Amino acid sequence: NHLFDLIRASLPADPATRTFIETGDGTRISYADMLDRSAAYASALRALGVRTGDRVAVQVEKSAEVVFLYLGAVRAGAVFLPLNTAYTAPEIAYFLSDAEASLFVCDSARLAALEPVAAEAKVTALRTLDGSGRGSMADAADAAGTDFADVARGADDLAAILYTSGTTGRSKGAMLSHDNLASNAITLVEAWRFTADDVLIHALPVFHTHGLFVATNIVLLAGATAIFLPKFDPKQVLALMGRATAMMGVPTFYTRLLREPGLTPEAAAKIRLFVSGSAPLLAETHRDWQARTGHAILERYGMTETNMNTSNPYDGERIAGTVGLPLPGISLRVVDADTGRALPADAVGMIEVKGPNVFRGYWRMPEKTASEFKADGFFITGDLGKVDERGYVHIVGRGKDLIITGGYNVYPKEVENEIDALPGVVESAVIGLAHADFGEGVTAIVVARPDAPGEEEILRILEGRLARFKCPKRILFAEDLPRNAMGKVQKNLLREAHAELYR
Ligand code: ATP
Ligand code: MG
Repeated sequence: NHLFDLIRASLPADPATRTFIETGDGTRISYADMLDRSAAYASALRALGVRTGDRVAVQVEKSAEVVFLYLGAVRAGAVFLPLNTAYTAPEIAYFLSDAEASLFVCDSARLAALEPVAAEAKVTALRTLDGSGRGSMADAADAAGTDFADVARGADDLAAILYTSGTTGRSKGAMLSHDNLASNAITLVEAWRFTADDVLIHALPVFHTHGLFVATNIVLLAGATAIFLPKFDPKQVLALMGRATAMMGVPTFYTRLLREPGLTPEAAAKIRLFVSGSAPLLAETHRDWQARTGHAILERYGMTETNMNTSNPYDGERIAGTVGLPLPGISLRVVDADTGRALPADAVGMIEVKGPNVFRGYWRMPEKTASEFKADGFFITGDLGKVDERGYVHIVGRGKDLIITGGYNVYPKEVENEIDALPGVVESAVIGLAHADFGEGVTAIVVARPDAPGEEEILRILEGRLARFKCPKRILFAEDLPRNAMGKVQKNLLREAHAELYR
């Protein structure tokens, strides 16, 4: 039940000749290297005073070395704690002290700024690791041997703490056990048919569940190869499609690739699977992608707290605008948020999940943890959605984004879908803003090309399509929507920016 036991048991028969990671510059790192390097990091961590259960906090640029540091921490019985590279020194101060990290690894370019922060947070050791894969942490691994006896850990012991993306408020530390990660990786390898023949285009960050656990753990368990790109560059990704078999991305990867004239059925012919998640994929993007490449993107739904919950089927229909069916071993239900009663098919309510994938609770937030779990063990996701007659799950938005106007509930997604379908509209975000008469006023922020209809015209069209209470009071135009590193629209920023609109 130790995550690394599972990785070890899944090793290819010829680890020295099988490539685990290929970097952008063509360097190939084998499975044998992965074993050695992760052992070296594990030894180095113990030598630096990291003990079983200690948190190893890491804010570094993506490289293969970060993956070995992650695996080294897991082997050393420590808790890996990656942090978004965009976090500023004050934000890092919060995470280091909240997590009581014993070691902090950062980029050497930020060492001067973060040294006092680490000292303030009483971190015992501070080391560096750069995007090049070098730094004092890598030096420590070089100096350590490659013999390491993995520290025994049980299924429920923590392997990682991952902070949530902070889309709806302050990030929370999700405690993830060895079994949370192992069980979900096994499920996904099976569901998505990963084998040692796969070559995955990996352009996601490795501080988030998508790039670190979904993408990397799957590759490890399948004995496959990941092409590690430090960032997403549509031209580079397009060129790599000629020799890769799979790609995992956030929706913006797909919308940006669609702008490349070179995206053709021929260019994507070798790929067997395109996966999207972390934010809603527009049904339109799904259809455009199919028209341009012949591939139906497989959309799935997960959270930092739960790993992956649902997926469209590998075989069988992948339905645009849905996140598919609950994965094997995972129970999902939709309940009335007020009464807690389970709802019938097609009724919108709060999504709750239960299974071996669901986390052990929020780090040092026992009350918050208790309030997010039901007595029967289901976790309240905070996402609103429905299950249709065929069992497919549809996400309509977050509970926190639900708009209550004049006593009526408005699900932003329903309004956004109508607006997005208008000619010339690129995308939209519908939010509620404080309004004296209605409580909240439905408001749309629209990104449009010059040929799109104007505010009055859009309002007139929507009135013919949506119940009056769902229609926006105002349409505001914007160059683009604010997004975080995972491509999630930051509605809280929009609400702040326009807070005074109706006052
Ligand atoms: P925070 O919890 O700190 O506000 P966050 O919820 O954005 O941030 P993550 O754990 O990275 O942090 O994201 C999980 C959320 O992403 C889900 O709860 C859901 O709202 C959204 N999400 C993930 N995949 C999909 C998808 N395929 N379609 C729609 N939403 C998705
Ligand atoms: Mg969340």
